[in-house]
Amino acid sequence: MSTIAHERFEAVIGLEVHAQLLTKSKAFAPVAAIYGEAPNTQVTPLCLGHPGTLPVVNENLVRYIIKMGLATNCGIAPKSIFARKNYFYPDLPKGYQISQFETPICHDGYVDIELEDYEKRIGLTRIHMEEDAGKSIHDQDPYNTLVDLNRAGTPLIEIVSEPDLRTPQEAYAYLTKIKQIVQYLEICDGNMEEGSLRCDANVSVRPRGQEKFGTRTELKNMNSFRNVEKAIEYEIYRQIELIESGGEVVQQTRLWDTSKMQSRPMRSKEEAHDYRYFPEPDLPPIIVTSEMLEEIKAELPELADVRQKRFMKEYGMSEVDAVTITESRYLADYFESVAEYSGNPKAALNVVLSEVLRVLNEQSIEIGEFSITPQKLSELIKLKEEDKVNSSAMQTIFNEMLDSDKSAEDLAKEMNLLQVSDTGFLEELVDEIIANNPDEVQRYKEGKKQLMGFFVGQAMKASKGKANPKMVTQMVSKKLEG
Ligand code: ADP
Ligand code: MG
Repeated sequence: MSTIAHERFEAVIGLEVHAQLLTKSKAFAPVAAIYGEAPNTQVTPLCLGHPGTLPVVNENLVRYIIKMGLATNCGIAPKSIFARKNYFYPDLPKGYQISQFETPICHDGYVDIELEDYEKRIGLTRIHMEEDAGKSIHDQDPYNTLVDLNRAGTPLIEIVSEPDLRTPQEAYAYLTKIKQIVQYLEICDGNMEEGSLRCDANVSVRPRGQEKFGTRTELKNMNSFRNVEKAIEYEIYRQIELIESGGEVVQQTRLWDTSKMQSRPMRSKEEAHDYRYFPEPDLPPIIVTSEMLEEIKAELPELADVRQKRFMKEYGMSEVDAVTITESRYLADYFESVAEYSGNPKAALNVVLSEVLRVLNEQSIEIGEFSITPQKLSELIKLKEEDKVNSSAMQTIFNEMLDSDKSAEDLAKEMNLLQVSDTGFLEELVDEIIANNPDEVQRYKEGKKQLMGFFVGQAMKASKGKANPKMVTQMVSKKLEG
């Protein structure tokens, strides 16, 4: 890939993101929408496409999508309808998916994304509701494809962006933003590896300065944020090379192969489905009243952007820290609980940023799986603030707490880490150090005040780290100066 191509061409990217909603039941059938159950146990005649069954819309599906629409600055249609998207596939017994076509419930929104040195607003064309299909399983029987219909009819929303993205990095930042919003709203767990968030990427390139878009391809099958970024990058280069060598991009769907780190064509425009959309006759239109809108607005949680600004103002956080801590709603909640219980937001921030995040990284877990409760961590912070333990002891106790239910104080006692603040004991210690180090005492008296560190160090060494360094400092300066 020559850099000249980079200078001459610009990429245009639009993403279609599917988010699996966390409703208890399916989109149009009274059966649980849960995952990981034995195949074909979460099905009703409706999911099986039996004739004579009638769908009924899950009210939470409508509420969840409106939340998403409001959080992404969309207009909410007062009236929208469902449509049938018809195609034949073994995991789709009805022969159609219920979706929305001409009148999606949310339209014309935007999200702001942040990149290293600039911000950008990305338009959302629409967000609509649909149901998922079942799952074909190809790797459990050597001769046959098996079908599991537990997923058939589970609720999805599809979030379609405008072709506003220009680089793989912007696409990554956009996806991260969408994930953050669905998690803050608690409408989807946002896990791309497990398929609760899925993304198709539409990619085209055009000579810089040209307004007209180039022919696009659609990339599928990327199962992580990094793969989306990589697949887009690969596709941009592939298209530029093709054009530069005199070829032409054909409109097609391409599958990303993670092991090979390249994509291959799946179907071209000629083979594309004609879904023969038509209005779903079995479902009434969705009517959103202004009362309903107001009610849902009132339920919206504080979103990441707002929370980040509040943290900067309320706790004096730097922007970098505020961004890190609000990245996940649950991490932000965790921090706020620790700040509240300990009464010390600064210390809480330090421990969460340095210790808690370190453990989450090391163990590859989310804050929800972290073993130390905010209350327990606050007790540890208090021990330190009250000078009952020093910072190295604090770290030792923190590590011990990861696998223990005991309180910080009990662990400190058990491990003999409580600082000694007993004046009599410290007085004796300090006198001894002064007596044993006449040279240093002399130099200190002559003005070499940096030697305080030496005296405190001696005290810590002699007491095996348990002397209260503040009290030692006070005593030494009193004895040598006073
Ligand atoms: P379809 O239903 O065939 O997938 P849409 O018009 O709904 O087509 O567009 C799907 C996505 O493709 C949208 O996110 C849109 O922004 C994006 N898109 C449209 N045209 C282009 C293009 N020329 N290059 C890149 N992305 C595009
Ligand atoms: Mg598409």
